[in-house]
Amino acid sequence: MSSQIDHLLNETRRFAPSAEFAANAVADASLYQRAAADREGFWADQARELHWHTPFTRVLDWSNPPFAEWFGDGELNVAYNCLDRHVDAGHGDRIALRWEGEPGDQRNVTYAELTDEVKRLSNVLIDLGIERGDRVAIYLPMIPEAIASMLAVARIGAVHSVVFGGFSADSLRSRIDDAGAKLVITADGGWRKGKVSPLKPAVDQALADRNGSGIQETVEHVLVVKRGENDVEWIDDRDIWWHDVVPQASGEHEAEAFPAETPLFILYTSGTTGKPKGILHTSGGYLTQAAFTNRVVHDVHPETDVYWCTADIGWITGHTYVAYGPLANGATQLLYEGTPDTPHPGRWWELIEKHGVTIFYTAPTAIRSFMKIGRDVPQKFDLSSLRLLGSVGEPINPEAWVWYRDIIGADTTPIVDTWWQTETGAIMISALPGVTETKPGSAQVPIPGISIAVVDDQGEPVGNGSGGLLVITEPWPSMLRGIWGDPDRYRETYWDKFSDKGYYFAGDGARLDDDGDVWLLGRVDDVMNVSGHRLSTAEIESALVGHEGVAESAVVGASDETTGQAVVAFVIIKSSYLKQHPVEGLGDELRKWVGEQIGPIARPRDVYIVGELPKTRSGKIMRRLLRDVAEGREVGDTTTLADTAVMSVISAQVK
Ligand code: ATP
Ligand code: MG
Repeated sequence: MSSQIDHLLNETRRFAPSAEFAANAVADASLYQRAAADREGFWADQARELHWHTPFTRVLDWSNPPFAEWFGDGELNVAYNCLDRHVDAGHGDRIALRWEGEPGDQRNVTYAELTDEVKRLSNVLIDLGIERGDRVAIYLPMIPEAIASMLAVARIGAVHSVVFGGFSADSLRSRIDDAGAKLVITADGGWRKGKVSPLKPAVDQALADRNGSGIQETVEHVLVVKRGENDVEWIDDRDIWWHDVVPQASGEHEAEAFPAETPLFILYTSGTTGKPKGILHTSGGYLTQAAFTNRVVHDVHPETDVYWCTADIGWITGHTYVAYGPLANGATQLLYEGTPDTPHPGRWWELIEKHGVTIFYTAPTAIRSFMKIGRDVPQKFDLSSLRLLGSVGEPINPEAWVWYRDIIGADTTPIVDTWWQTETGAIMISALPGVTETKPGSAQVPIPGISIAVVDDQGEPVGNGSGGLLVITEPWPSMLRGIWGDPDRYRETYWDKFSDKGYYFAGDGARLDDDGDVWLLGRVDDVMNVSGHRLSTAEIESALVGHEGVAESAVVGASDETTGQAVVAFVIIKSSYLKQHPVEGLGDELRKWVGEQIGPIARPRDVYIVGELPKTRSGKIMRRLLRDVAEGREVGDTTTLADTAVMSVISAQVK
């Protein structure tokens, strides 16, 4: 079967950067030339923007693929680079974190204060017996202590595994076990949707007696931040209050230099496709690409910008673009604890107005949910401080992209649509603001120093105008170094498919347009085969969302006797639209609509109108579950869903 993917949608709108933006942008086109002329030299230059206790002499060692080493003989301390370095440079008074809790409480934390806190916490961790290489699980809300915890673990050469605070005791347990964590850092609870959501009880449950499971408990202590003020149970020789030990600890701690390949963190992928994988990242290369991409893609000017990435630290985006990238660059950022719609649906826009946010980075799922609520909510706020918008996590449909620019960006801000993965560690494909003329819906070009291709099953380039499989053809500094404890799965998952060429297979489909720009088409596993045509989910979903009544959509291929597979669409209709139009006949109208927008081949066989779509906790649609429904099977593993009840509701609506 051919791996080519048919091209369906045509989007022709273009947005050139303004002269003013281009004149002040961090990036300029010469970066591409420098990187093309000497890729490794280019990355070495970027790495030298960091502070190295021992400078490296080797750049890339790829003698044992797929296990790469970057800057292997250099030594650095990641936390020193994010903290002490800025204080030493005279920026101690600059605010690192402008934090706001969901109830509206606020704290500004300067670089000097954050450095002090991290030094104290480092001493506490050492007292608790945490040594270089030990794993520490972090299960915290979005509070300054979460960032301090990641940095303190990094500072002493230990390895963190951040587990999203919304995950259950079970998920926490399996991640603690997989990593063999010695310490858990948590809070009593945190604020979510207007109430305190408990965290410590989930830790207690995760650590409760295993009933003779035979597995050795690795956790020795639980360090607890008081945040929610909810009642918690206490095990005296295991549990420790943060406020009893951190303020009292010594503020003297000198950052030790560690080799560049020292493990920095393990992070489990969001689990859209199956069992979560513990992705391992190391220090020097990761920090290099995190800082570089944050600087040039988010156009960070540390003296003047207020940057806000809305991701939770439980996701890779929160690691690279909340914790490490912006702090390595000495930026000032907003950190917000709560949900976007508490206590009112304009909460995020209120925060942007209040804190004068200039750079805003969020996910398409959030943008689509704001479109669903309507433009009058953001329009109540002054968003004129914004000068750059970013998107990450899924393909952003052109309609959502244009809405984002129009309504949030006053029809002027550049938008960077950034493609990357937990595994890539940092942004790989994106426009450079001020340089690239942007196209709604396209992630566009690999960043300087990154080489990608779109290929067929044999690894041959499909050429401009065609769709195929996205691969990364050369190792990159922030690439994953493996799957924790499972080198075979690492090879099989990412490298075996194109082992003769040495390509990294990302698992995503993509298309190159006539200019050679990249359009992401969704996961290869989700590509449909209808009468021999390979159709991507992203393009049909974009067409559906282009209909005035449709708020969100998900498309899957279901087996079909005549066509092999048939397109089955699940759509959420805007409530404002339903007030004025009958629901009868809407399914047929949408089938016809897709036929007109794209062509008869893409016309859905069935359109189901539903109230919700199954999403992971990071907001990604889990199409494999919808495929189960469409094919009348029992629904598969739903444990990584944000709301596990949603599938029974959908199944009922489909019947
Ligand atoms: P799992 O690998 O466990 O199934 P996941 O892939 O959802 O989980 P992440 O690493 O958070 O976990 O997500 C990376 C994926 O998100 C990419 O492979 C791609 O499918 C999608 N993605 C991220 N950014 C973009 C983007 N800008 N455009 C299109 N797709 C994107
Ligand atoms: Mg993935």
